[in-house]
Amino acid sequence: MNASKKIVPISFEFFPPNTPVGDEKLKTVVQELGACQPEFFSVTYGAGGSTREKTLHTVTAIAQAGFEAAPHLSCVGSTRQGLGDILATYRAQKIRRIVALRGDLPSGTATAGEFRYASELVRFIRETQGSDWRIEVAAYPEYHPGERYARRDLQHYVDKVKAGADSAITQFFFNPDAYFHFVDETRKLGADVPVVPGIMPFHNFAKIAQFAARDGIEIPRWVALKMEGFMDDAASIRAFGLDVVTRLCEKLIAGGAPGIHFYTMNQSALTLELCRRLGLAPKD
Ligand code: FAD
Repeated sequence: MNASKKIVPISFEFFPPNTPVGDEKLKTVVQELGACQPEFFSVTYGAGGSTREKTLHTVTAIAQAGFEAAPHLSCVGSTRQGLGDILATYRAQKIRRIVALRGDLPSGTATAGEFRYASELVRFIRETQGSDWRIEVAAYPEYHPGERYARRDLQHYVDKVKAGADSAITQFFFNPDAYFHFVDETRKLGADVPVVPGIMPFHNFAKIAQFAARDGIEIPRWVALKMEGFMDDAASIRAFGLDVVTRLCEKLIAGGAPGIHFYTMNQSALTLELCRRLGLAPKD
């Protein structure tokens, strides 16, 4: 490790693989990233419970490999009873950390479920599971695309924290000022939990640009233009993407971010390289 660099806790996010081959590959990725001694690995949950079993399966595999695993759980389209059953299964598996979300129903799906917002799920988890669960919630430094007014979105986030969240993980972003502003504003409104930046390495620029456009996330123009100019030059895209994201993480850590959560896309190479550059991974 580079002694001059500030060491912050890290975590890694996966989605549950769809195939046995994907499961096997993820086991290797868990070992490779596990060398960085993450605080936890989190595993996403498909809209309306579509990955319920697979999320549980992946979380169990991570726990068996000796790491802390945090399942995501979304409430939209679900019942109180169904969510209670899932929480009971996790409790029996000794899981005590969860990422509580509203989720998004696929368009055309009519049933909203018994909970409309993540704050209601957070309250439900706190009331039914008690204080020994660590509840993470989502935060949006560039605001959630579903809320027209920034002030209301901030207030909804604060309500979610006051409902019982212990910390937050952000949507990915590339503008550190948006993150620091979000942290300042929400603290002023009384939400004083750690807000861990969610960092998206440039796995695939076209896809990330698509997600960003859908979710209202700004990719700086100079980054987008340069990436587009590389066309299919994968080596240049990789090198430039690593430089941009390393610099972003350095600014965040220097400015006091309490940790870094990496969106890994179930791959280790880019995330490991970022951790190495940040002094957060063991040297080869
Ligand atoms: P909420 O906090 O409920 O907010 C949703 C919207 O409702 C916002 O616009 C908010 O301003 C508004 N709102 C909140 N409360 C109120 C209220 N009382 N009245 C009116 N409006 C209100 N999705 C998945 O399906 N599975 C996952 O595993 C998953 N993991 C994620 C992990 C992270 C770290 C992040 C950042 C997002 C993740 N998502 C996941 C996406 C998330 O489910 C969507 O962004 C969803 O649209 C919002 O979820 P939320 O928990 O932020 O919702």
